[in-house]
Amino acid sequence: MGEPGNGGAEAAGRLLALIREGKASSRPTIERASGLSRVTVVQRLRYLFEAGLVVDGDATEASGGRPARIISANPDFAVALAADVGESMIRVAATDLSPRILAETTFDLDVASGPQAALTGIVRSARNLLGDLATPQERVLGIGLSLPAPVNHVAGRVVGPSVMRGWDDFDVCGFLKSELGVPALVDNDVNLMALSEYRRYWPRVEHFLFIKAGTGIGSGIILKGAVYRGARGASGDIGHIQFDEASAPLCRCGKFGCVEARAGGWAIARDLSANGLKARNARDVVDLVERREPDAIQRVREAGRVLGEVAADVVSVLNPTTIVVGGTMARAGEHLLAGVKEMIYRRSLPLALEGLGVFAARSDDRAGVLGAACLVVDAALAPEALFDTVERLGRAKSDERRGKTPRTPRLR
Ligand SMILES: [Zn+2]
Repeated sequence: MGEPGNGGAEAAGRLLALIREGKASSRPTIERASGLSRVTVVQRLRYLFEAGLVVDGDATEASGGRPARIISANPDFAVALAADVGESMIRVAATDLSPRILAETTFDLDVASGPQAALTGIVRSARNLLGDLATPQERVLGIGLSLPAPVNHVAGRVVGPSVMRGWDDFDVCGFLKSELGVPALVDNDVNLMALSEYRRYWPRVEHFLFIKAGTGIGSGIILKGAVYRGARGASGDIGHIQFDEASAPLCRCGKFGCVEARAGGWAIARDLSANGLKARNARDVVDLVERREPDAIQRVREAGRVLGEVAADVVSVLNPTTIVVGGTMARAGEHLLAGVKEMIYRRSLPLALEGLGVFAARSDDRAGVLGAACLVVDAALAPEALFDTVERLGRAKSDERRGKTPRTPRLR
């Protein structure tokens, strides 16, 4: 008796996963989904209830016999911190576990000014947000960071960034963890935008491809509910696939003919500027499209076809059912999407096109920060991590709520 084992918490965590994924929402449906006996389910749920990880709702659902009370994950179990580093602006947010934004702030910073300035600003903003919410550090699950660069997700470091001088191999997670005293995780912005868009709007799709068309270009792959990162975290980096041709334009990465150099917001801005229009980045390009500037519309349509070429190659490899195009350039709507669809349908085999849909993203510009929060919440609530999370947060939380002396949730 006494302390529940790591294994007990892990078993309870698998029930929590069923609830969080929407696969079960009452005791009877949890029994059916898990294949466990009623007694075992009751015991494992008791652990989750005592830790404060799940709550009983007021609503009920029909379950064959008596109406069963709905059980849901408790979004107020703890607070997650998240930061989205853009090329010229940083957004920092505190969220609940849904994740829903509780408080946020932004500040301007050129990402090329290096990691020290950016991370110090993020730490200061995060502390201010927690202060505004009157949330003590003991209630913080962790911090997630979204970076516009290739990220070794396991090592928590940027590797070979093309636009982030000074960040290469900097120990980003180590810095945040030592400053804030909570676990820190990092991933590239496209994976996190993909994760957030998928969770909020496409949770039932098993083979999901997200293409970010912004100042830069990339893609995020979600297979059966999880981000597919490949061996080192470099999967989906379609922006630097090269097309060998005589007049291939120079890319920011130093190579010639990259997709980004032909279709990225910066490349379109480069071409429009050469024609005397005022454009520095993807935002400027979209503004010109919205003002119906013919050159800009024409150039965005061409970019859509370039994206479509590379997307067709990805379709051949991955056979996704849903492709979502997001990022600043996606605001150009059909001007961009038409070319993407055209090339995918022209180049792909009939079997790969069966049931395939291409859509504009539904997320707004908070996708990155919400994806970073998802990263933190998923890591902390994963079955194998649940014991440590509850030891760190569960007791303090439930004591505070009930006004009782500390007690570890029991699991028999
Ligand atoms: Zn490149």
